Amino acid sequence: MRAAGMVILTMVLCTPCSGVRAQDTVAEEAAHRAALLAHLPPDAAQRVFGLETAPAPGPSAAIGSYERGCLEGAVELPADGSNWQVMRPSRNRAWGHPVLIQFIERLAAKMPVEAGWRGLLIGDIAQPRGGPMLTGHGSHQIGLDADIWLTPMPNRLLTAAERNEMSATDVVAADGQHVDPAVWNPSYLKMYRAVAREAEVARIFVNPAIKRELCREAGTDRAWLSKIRPWWGHDYHFHMRLVCPPGETQCRNQAPPPEGDGCGKELAWWFTPEALHPPPVHAKPLLLSNLPHACVAVAEAPARAADLSKPR
Ligand SMILES: [Zn+2]
Repeated sequence: MRAAGMVILTMVLCTPCSGVRAQDTVAEEAAHRAALLAHLPPDAAQRVFGLETAPAPGPSAAIGSYERGCLEGAVELPADGSNWQVMRPSRNRAWGHPVLIQFIERLAAKMPVEAGWRGLLIGDIAQPRGGPMLTGHGSHQIGLDADIWLTPMPNRLLTAAERNEMSATDVVAADGQHVDPAVWNPSYLKMYRAVAREAEVARIFVNPAIKRELCREAGTDRAWLSKIRPWWGHDYHFHMRLVCPPGETQCRNQAPPPEGDGCGKELAWWFTPEALHPPPVHAKPLLLSNLPHACVAVAEAPARAADLSKPR
């Protein structure tokens, strides 16, 4: 049991979201949560923020960094829009900074024209008060990260059961070297390019095989490729990260990605044995005291009455 807990912890702490399985079902998610709750100390930030069910009231603020922070005044992406549907609703992770939530709605509306996709299936965004999660992500802590499935939105409303159980689409071949030609099609490049061209987007994390394919297909317009960052996993979904909203002094941006398309030596490293078989990371869980001090107040703030009465 102890070993199993360590394995899960190891996966969770890799960043930005390796070990995340967008397609994990409700039962798998519940088993992972239970295993972690049995081992984490009482003041583990994952436990404190992972058990919050409603947002902290107050003006919206992204506090800290993507991998060590929290979120005040979060808003929830509605389960359905004309061009999006929220997946895995049972996780209660469709909360984000209002800037991100509005951005997702605008981005989704562009997909029919930009990529020929009817819309987007939205995976994990953030918890009601941000912070580290019990399962799945090293980042997603300040409400400016979102996972988007590599399955285009279908031409119908998915049922609650489908949203909680159906699998996302894996676009990477079994050898991890290339995209799967049976799944990949030209709409993927159009979709990634449309997202990367948005000024608010800081980075997009993708599987190295996907970056390799985008490098191959991009042609002469390559500036957007600098934001497409290879990372482990990300074969069923991609991870979109926005820059800190203007004027938010408690929000810490990441350094901009290196200039250039990132298609040369840097990408080649991802296909070396060192990258393909990384050693396990045994990091300690973050404690509440490891987060910015303002996150203590965010964790302890009483929820708005309206949020408490909302059925879950
Ligand atoms: Zn992610």
